[in-house]
Amino acid sequence: MRVILCDVGPRDGLQNEPDQLGPDVRAELVNRLAGAGLPRVETVSFVRDDRVPQMAGAEEVVAGLQRRDGVEYSGLVLNERGYERFHATGLDRVNVTFAATESFNRANGNASLEEAIARVDAILAAAAEPATVTISVSFGCPFEGRVDPGVVAGLAARFTGRAEVILADTIGVATPSAVRALVERTGAEGFHGHNTRNTGYANSLAALEAGASVLDASVGGLGGCPYAPRATGNVATEDLVYLLEGEGVETGVDLDALIGVSVWLEGVLGRTLEGYVYRAGAWSSSS
Ligand code: MG
Repeated sequence: MRVILCDVGPRDGLQNEPDQLGPDVRAELVNRLAGAGLPRVETVSFVRDDRVPQMAGAEEVVAGLQRRDGVEYSGLVLNERGYERFHATGLDRVNVTFAATESFNRANGNASLEEAIARVDAILAAAAEPATVTISVSFGCPFEGRVDPGVVAGLAARFTGRAEVILADTIGVATPSAVRALVERTGAEGFHGHNTRNTGYANSLAALEAGASVLDASVGGLGGCPYAPRATGNVATEDLVYLLEGEGVETGVDLDALIGVSVWLEGVLGRTLEGYVYRAGAWSSSS
């Protein structure tokens, strides 16, 4: 069994942290992740610099990449202008996102659900590259509570065949049976788990067992939870690698090298990260 891990640390992770790292450091982070064997890295977001200062200078980040064969570099795009910038950089995969609920789209993107879907449609129509559509709050919404799986299935079906679909547990409320059921029902290619309530790793494994082939995770667990300020967000990539490899799932990632990236990042940020494995160290039953 094999999985494609996407490290979202340089984008989803850093965007949800208070620290602002310059484009050179963010490019180095992407390069280190690619060097550790991550098959996909969410590299940048093409947003206005004044709106999201953590993501400022996307083109400079891309210019600092040492592109490696076999690594897919993706970028988040919110509208057609963002897509034009993405396309000009020559990144490999465009990531677009919308939320499963009316309220979350209004709060996060100042759009109704149908307007948010129209934006995604417009980007997909323009895109020459492979695309991923991430459906946020697929399991629970901070404003509307539990999300009806039938609604998410209907939303996912609108993109089947046009893009890879990833279901995101954006506020970290799902448990494995719900993840298993929704991945099976939608046929979604991937899952984006948060560990806000310590279920992120079990959920990721459940998604894989239900047929998902792409799992998002963030080096060191970078990326807090905007709706629970004291809580953690993304699952840590190295912790997920340890779990998956132990379960016989090939990731292609060099765990020791990835731990090295988290150790480096801890030094850059000057604080302990959320992940467990980089602090405990890898362990091999054969040594
Ligand atoms: Mg996330």
